[in-house]
Amino acid sequence: MKNDPIIKVENLKVHFGLTKGIAKKRIGTVKAVDGVSFSVERGKTIGIVGESGCGKTTTGKAILRMVSSSGGKVYFHNQDVLAMKRKEHDKIKRKIQMIFQDPYGSLDPRQSAFSIIKEVLVADGKKRTSEEITKEVNELLVMVGLSEEMGERFPHELSGGQRQRIGIARALACHPEVIICDEPVSALDVSIQAQIINLLEKLQRELGLTYIFVAHDLAVVRHIADYVCIMYLGNIVEMMDSDEMFTKPLHPYTKALISAIPVVDYHLEKTRKRIELEGEIPSPINRPTGCPFHPRCPYAKDKCAKEAPVMDTTDPNHPVCCFYYKDLNKETSN
Ligand code: SF4
Repeated sequence: MKNDPIIKVENLKVHFGLTKGIAKKRIGTVKAVDGVSFSVERGKTIGIVGESGCGKTTTGKAILRMVSSSGGKVYFHNQDVLAMKRKEHDKIKRKIQMIFQDPYGSLDPRQSAFSIIKEVLVADGKKRTSEEITKEVNELLVMVGLSEEMGERFPHELSGGQRQRIGIARALACHPEVIICDEPVSALDVSIQAQIINLLEKLQRELGLTYIFVAHDLAVVRHIADYVCIMYLGNIVEMMDSDEMFTKPLHPYTKALISAIPVVDYHLEKTRKRIELEGEIPSPINRPTGCPFHPRCPYAKDKCAKEAPVMDTTDPNHPVCCFYYKDLNKETSN
């Protein structure tokens, strides 16, 4: 990212203490996020990708202060959000909003769509007449592709796509600059996914929004994101332009994720090399020593179990966290 970032995350950590029994004796630490750094320019989209449990959603929640961070900094317009006093944070928190994975679970079932959006709107404390509020809510409904009449419906009377549109309208009611999209389409049918992605892109163009797009679907992220972070067990292992994610992946984990995506072309599918990952992502309670990926990495050597690699920034636009990525990519390109 070349221009001044609107969001800059530095060495963010979210560790949870693990306790046992009534006495709450501490028996360990879960390192859900363990030193994540990235930045995103205004009007751009950064994708955060990884398997379930890699810490991508927790990263988003820590930026919003929905979970407490254990270390690191999150700058919004060069102000450290995590260091702010509550009153100071209250002033800027509407500028960073979140769209949730489960639109049904995130909407109050007892309120109509109109009331859900109105509630957020009036919370900013700005004086408006009831006509002005109605006008603004209706404008938001239309902006997200719904009719004004839809405002009268309750969440259970709406389809999954319509509910997600209400979730987006609710976020827009805060006039945000940054939206953290937490798997916003993974609970929707494929045809509806495309509509919501197109809507997010349209809103970004029209309102100059910045997105942090958290997802496990690489194809969706490639489509919407400008830059991508690949996360594994609380750490970023590779960062690159979204086009390079498919054309020039360097880390074994990124390659494995990409090789698991089915390709429509029969000949390509038959000839391409698959990298099979064995086992599940390890528990963050018992993180492997050395490179956290070594128990599943088909290229792991002795050193990988003993030492943790650091991010190699030889190409600052495409950093990689692996001891052997240069050799491996020499081998595979030959
Ligand atoms: Fe695999 Fe070793 Fe590279 Fe980790 S450092 S990704 S275990 S080769």
